[in-house]
Amino acid sequence: MNRVYNFSAGPAVMPVEVLEEARENMLSLGDTGIGVMEHSHRGKPFVAVAEQAEANCRKLANISDDYAVLFLQGGASTQFFTVPQNLLSKDKTADYLVTGSWSKKAVKEAKLFGNVNVACSSEDRNFCYIPKECSYSDAPAYVHFTSNNTIFGTQFATEPAGPAGAPLVCDASSDIFSRPIDVSKYGIIYAGAQKNLGPSGVTLVIIRKDLIEQGPSDLPSMLQYRTHANNDSMFNTPPTFGIFTMGLVFKWIEKQGGLAGVAQKNAAKAKPLYDYLDGSSLFKATADQDSRSLMNVCFVTGDADKDAKFIASAKEEGFDGLKGHRSVGGMRASIYNAFPAEGVTALVDFMRDFEAKNG
Ligand code: PMP
Repeated sequence: MNRVYNFSAGPAVMPVEVLEEARENMLSLGDTGIGVMEHSHRGKPFVAVAEQAEANCRKLANISDDYAVLFLQGGASTQFFTVPQNLLSKDKTADYLVTGSWSKKAVKEAKLFGNVNVACSSEDRNFCYIPKECSYSDAPAYVHFTSNNTIFGTQFATEPAGPAGAPLVCDASSDIFSRPIDVSKYGIIYAGAQKNLGPSGVTLVIIRKDLIEQGPSDLPSMLQYRTHANNDSMFNTPPTFGIFTMGLVFKWIEKQGGLAGVAQKNAAKAKPLYDYLDGSSLFKATADQDSRSLMNVCFVTGDADKDAKFIASAKEEGFDGLKGHRSVGGMRASIYNAFPAEGVTALVDFMRDFEAKNG
């Protein structure tokens, strides 16, 4: 089988080791004679899988008992409304840091439930940077930010320091567990799995327990965090295969040296690409230098025809998924945790060659 270099923004490349272990367990989970997707979620073997996945997650990110770790459905997009539905109301204000299309979508949903103060925005320059200053409201219900902007290729270097006492809520969909994170600084961290954690269909939510109880209890059961927390994410049938695979990915990250280990690898992996872009006279990185993402590297030639030619010739050479999002144009190389370093080196060689012929 010829696996190509997959630069997809998500669903994205997964560790081969994890895929192989998943493949084995698809036919029989351990020696049960029943595949992982075929087991009842209430049976002992799957309950053990879910417990192990949670334990691996807690160990990896050093998550204390003050937090619940939930495996939910509906993607990060469901968290866009579940967070305000549980934590915001018409007489309250939540602060949002608007650094891309996903933050804007989160704002739109929050406005259905209460007031939104846009504490900062980088929309004036098509989201090519992370703002340095924020203007917070007096006592926001929470402060929401998107740690990595998948479409625009920008990333917060560290979490913003919101006003004291305001829970920090983070959409970490595209950089979760790509570097160390001090969970104790957050109220809620959520992420769809399909970039750094596994297959689509499962959403990781790490939530401080006191916030779970703040939510109204007259919401539909599925929309209350307490329902999921009180039932170990098994109020209804959970995404069993996703949970299993996520557990394998946590274990794989641990083997890479944990979050510090992957962070070091991710920095070393992105560097040759950014270095090349900085020296190139054909290609140019679109994000400001101090805001660059280590997960999504966006670049353009400035000529749409050349971009298209580049993307087509790259695909022929086995570099897939490089087309940028239409709101930025050009190219985007998504190089999440599982993307191999040699794929980036190979891409840089290919770009250098393309520049020599087309520059
Ligand atoms: N937030 C970010 C930062 C994303 O990149 C995405 C998906 N690309 C989403 C939210 C939406 O996630 P989902 O498709 O899981 O709802």
